Amino acid sequence: MSFTKQVKDEMARIDDGEKCCQLAELKSLIMMSGNVHIDADYHLSLTLETENPAIARRAYRLAKNLFNLQHEVSVKRRARLKKSTLYVVRLLPQIGTKKAFKTLGIELTPKGYEIKWDSDIFKKRCCHRSYLRGVFLGSGSVSNPEQKTYHLEIVVKDPTHYKIICELMRNFGLNPKSLMKRNKYMIYLKESEQIVDFLNIIGAHAALLSFEGVRVKKEVRNRVNRIVNCETANLNKTVDAAIKQVEAIRLLEKNPGLEKLPVGLEKIARLRLENPDLSLKELGELMNPVISKSGVNHRMRRLQKMADKVSGKKHRK
Ligand SMILES: [Zn+2]
Repeated sequence: MSFTKQVKDEMARIDDGEKCCQLAELKSLIMMSGNVHIDADYHLSLTLETENPAIARRAYRLAKNLFNLQHEVSVKRRARLKKSTLYVVRLLPQIGTKKAFKTLGIELTPKGYEIKWDSDIFKKRCCHRSYLRGVFLGSGSVSNPEQKTYHLEIVVKDPTHYKIICELMRNFGLNPKSLMKRNKYMIYLKESEQIVDFLNIIGAHAALLSFEGVRVKKEVRNRVNRIVNCETANLNKTVDAAIKQVEAIRLLEKNPGLEKLPVGLEKIARLRLENPDLSLKELGELMNPVISKSGVNHRMRRLQKMADKVSGKKHRK
């Protein structure tokens, strides 16, 4: 199951909440995936289409709770798009439809209809959450947290609605980004913290926990990998340096001979030959008296210079 479906299935099953919130959620669902029909006799009807049966059931239930009107649910097969199944919730023309439309803020215009956002009605935070939940149920998606990058998006057609959604998200402290794609607005979140916040706002707590679980595991794994890589790199550097030092000392052993070197250098050279795997610090601790890591480093460089001279190489800095 995709992570989006997991979130939506959870959302579709949570408590219906207060009447004010139910209205907000149904309204946004209609905004996202609803259609108003007006027949020749000016009878109004409303349909809501979704591929997710749990969302269809929720929309049906919310509409029933709010208006107690006659609804029907039907199933249709889409010819294109992998022949997916569509669940259609329909509010039939009947006495009371007009009133329901008014409550939902659906107004007829010369061009068709408009769904008005009434900030006087929806001024409570609980309703804002519910509205965003409806938005996500209607046209939201979120990538699986196992994937490399985090991504949550909402696709909106209507420019006014787009602005409302962005504003609601900002009021909750989110920082939504957006772009235009084929005449639609794509609102998206890229940061994992923001996605977690959004899931929390819309009440997807189970999905949030599994998202966090995966995120933490991923971050620990990345951190461990980074440390291992870093330590391997350091270790490789130490080993490479020790090999070079041993090569240089072997050269000096032949010419002019280690016994010809100044005492301090001779001592460290012999120690290095006996202990090729020790770090400079550890070598210094074997000296008597003990010398510091930088002291050992200094002597190693002198040995290297001498060896370079013997082999005719230019001095390295
Ligand atoms: Zn409310």
